[in-house]
Amino acid sequence: MVDILKMYINGEWVISESGKTREIFNPATGEVIAKVTEGTEVDVRVAVEAAKHAFYNTQWGENTFDRASYLYKLADELEKRVDEFARIETLDNGKPLRESVYDVHDAAACFRYYAGYINKPHGETYNVQDTMQAMVVREPIGVCGQIVPWNYPLLMGTWKLAPALAAGNTLVFKPSEITPLSMIKLFELIDELGFPKGVVNLVLGEGKTVGHEIASNMGVDKIAFTGGTATGRSIMKAATTNIKKISLELGGKSPNIVFADADFETAVDYALFGIFANQGQVCSAGSRLLLEESIYDKFLERLTDRAKKIVVNKGTEEGVEMGPLVSKEHMEKVLQYIEIGKEEGARLLCGGYQITTGELGKGNFVAPTIFADTTPDMRIVQEEIFGPVLVVQKFKDEKEAIALANNTIYGLAGGVFTNDIAKAHRVIKRLRAGITWINSYHPTYNEAPWGGYKQSGIGRELGSFGYEEYTEVKQININLCVEPIGWFQN
Ligand code: NAD
Repeated sequence: MVDILKMYINGEWVISESGKTREIFNPATGEVIAKVTEGTEVDVRVAVEAAKHAFYNTQWGENTFDRASYLYKLADELEKRVDEFARIETLDNGKPLRESVYDVHDAAACFRYYAGYINKPHGETYNVQDTMQAMVVREPIGVCGQIVPWNYPLLMGTWKLAPALAAGNTLVFKPSEITPLSMIKLFELIDELGFPKGVVNLVLGEGKTVGHEIASNMGVDKIAFTGGTATGRSIMKAATTNIKKISLELGGKSPNIVFADADFETAVDYALFGIFANQGQVCSAGSRLLLEESIYDKFLERLTDRAKKIVVNKGTEEGVEMGPLVSKEHMEKVLQYIEIGKEEGARLLCGGYQITTGELGKGNFVAPTIFADTTPDMRIVQEEIFGPVLVVQKFKDEKEAIALANNTIYGLAGGVFTNDIAKAHRVIKRLRAGITWINSYHPTYNEAPWGGYKQSGIGRELGSFGYEEYTEVKQININLCVEPIGWFQN
């Protein structure tokens, strides 16, 4: 019999009060690989109380040395178990093993970055009037609720946990109900390392119940969310109950602009990487390719030729380059968008179907898909598909490229390929997006802020910006001349 994986609340592994369980599937085979307890609103309330108690009754928020030491140890333990974590991630999410290995290393590096960051922030003092000294300090916010999606289960979890813990907060964390396994494993490390009870709590379950309770609970001081824009909107509403601090990392439909003077093979290579890495399930994916008209045909020919050769297989297989989509439901959504693209009159260059041959027929495999000759009014151009589907548009000049690039509700990321450095900077300056690349696509670093303009979100993760999202700012005014103010006469 398969063990039921539990939640971690107040330093204990617990079964939900619901008594219900959820099956977790391998997206490459459709097999059940685990059963987890299904949490409820009641479980969240217990976790919030534990986090509150830990925040107000332990030294967690005060003791920077201890916090750094826990985070360093967590990074070290993760590094020791890269293969184990990577395998879990691939079985649960589907992504090729080589991508999971990167994710685990990146997660360890993120914990290490914030362990090192803990003693770097400093306050400020101001010279105000002669008899006063003003100073500013940063303090933890309190209990933070954190909710993440399924596309990078461990890494998105780490981007939430590391800065929040570094800043001295206590947490109630919820992974996606579709892919909870790597974060459950991470909490086993947290347990082994003996983090103080109640500091980090793991709740499992659905968004509309468990997630909604975290977002609306009066004891949660801040909500940090990564996921779809529609969910972000609902979380914002739920967070009004007690005017929570809020940060949102939402969807995208990011432009990747290639000018005729770009290094041709480099641009083709990054165009593929931009959309087909992680099966296209990347918030910052270069899902809209904008090509200058003089290279349009030649570029598409080369791109399509290479896309057709991408090795699609189970994530655990040798040489695999693209795995399955995360779930049957998500695959259906992506296939539906492909049908919409055909109906809208876009020209299908490759892919456009579920792979059903042999063993792959049991999983959620979709062939790398490219639509050319798309127009700004098409749904496949405006809406986030979140799968291996690239839409391509043609532009005449720089002005048109910028106008097309900015023509969606999103503003998460964008790339520009050109050998003219002045043009590259002119275009980047006009892109309404928070994460941008010149002659590259995708690499990002713990040091730099991650987040979007427009409906791609509020706030930033990573770096000093990500840390500050988990702090309150307090001004302290010190009277240097202690005598009555004398405002009232009697
Ligand atoms: P989703 O919004 O459906 O779910 C994300 C998380 O929110 C899950 O844990 C889910 O259980 C929870 N949730 C769902 N409804 C909720 C509700 N009403 N209240 C509270 N929580 C709720 O997103 P998804 O399908 O898991 O992930 C894909 C989306 O995530 C894409 O739109 C993608 O662009 C976005 N994403 C953004 C970033 C970023 O950094 N901007 C990174 C990764 C993914």
